[in-house]
Amino acid sequence: MAIIHSTQFQKLILQWFDLHGRKHFPWQKNKTPYRVWVSEIMLQQTQVNTVIPYYENFMHEFPDIKSLARAREDKVLHLWAGLGYYSRARNLHRAAKMVMEEFGGKFPDNLEDLQALPGVGRSTAGAIFSIAYNQQAAILDGNVKRVLARFQGITEPINNKNIEALLWQHAERYTPKQRAADYTQAMMDLGATICVRSRPQCMQCPLIKYCAAHQENLTHLIPAKKAGRELPVRTATFLVLQKDERILLRKRPPMGIWGGLFSFPEISGEPLKENIQAYCRQKLNIPVTKYQPLKSFRHTFSHYHLDIHPVIIPVKRMPTRIMEDGQQIWYNPHEPESVGLPKPVQLIMRALR
Ligand code: SF4
Repeated sequence: MAIIHSTQFQKLILQWFDLHGRKHFPWQKNKTPYRVWVSEIMLQQTQVNTVIPYYENFMHEFPDIKSLARAREDKVLHLWAGLGYYSRARNLHRAAKMVMEEFGGKFPDNLEDLQALPGVGRSTAGAIFSIAYNQQAAILDGNVKRVLARFQGITEPINNKNIEALLWQHAERYTPKQRAADYTQAMMDLGATICVRSRPQCMQCPLIKYCAAHQENLTHLIPAKKAGRELPVRTATFLVLQKDERILLRKRPPMGIWGGLFSFPEISGEPLKENIQAYCRQKLNIPVTKYQPLKSFRHTFSHYHLDIHPVIIPVKRMPTRIMEDGQQIWYNPHEPESVGLPKPVQLIMRALR
């Protein structure tokens, strides 16, 4: 591989950005630390095109940190519903309150305070600091890891701690003092549009002349990952209790899968009549004589597959006792309330409509 100095690396990246970088995302207009922060959190784990409509809705509802801090958590989760990884939304909300209470409403303008915000790790803090304040700070998100691992010809798994530390060293070394915002955006763009996971477009890449993976024909082997294990499969029956037009939903506990969102009562396993009847009798005090299965489907989390079997159970009269803890609502799919619904619940509601 030809040797390259960091100033040359930066020059190539910034020249490429001037010609081909992406400069028209909604968070690049009226740039404020708040707007950049929200975009960076939404972009963790999620593609740009998916994020844009969510981002615009979110900004419409919560144009500044004050409005987000004052919002009900249900409302925040409602606007997040469908984006997945809901802890991001809960952390944004907590962080907004923290900024109001501990930083006097002023968004942090240094790396240390940024990293103290819930949901902001080293790379996200670097992205906010460089993009919002145009200050030198390295990032190492998934895209940048891939670019640097290929550029350096690193064939070891990139999720290995030592390799990650090495990649951070490269990231720090290449990040410039000048035009830090453009450089960060350029590295993200290069990873997202040119140095993509399969079939990178090396002929259009500004780094081609110096890239070890390209020179040594290793692009298909990098980034290597530790062998992952196959995802386990779990099965659940969703009890869609229907009274007139309305459906019973329960708020899930704050921690764990879909924390704070509203979902159906559920039992593990496939829909067996005796299990459904026993659960409804013991937990909900409802006699079940008939139910109707809906189409089953699979939802995949990062660590397991969930095979979902929804069943509609018509209810004539719901005992008031189960509503007493305030964690239940009767949800009308035709007049939806502003509460967060996980994607599979949204799909079932859509089928019911
Ligand atoms: S030359 Fe190819 S493999 Fe190397 S950084 Fe560019 S796109 Fe990635």
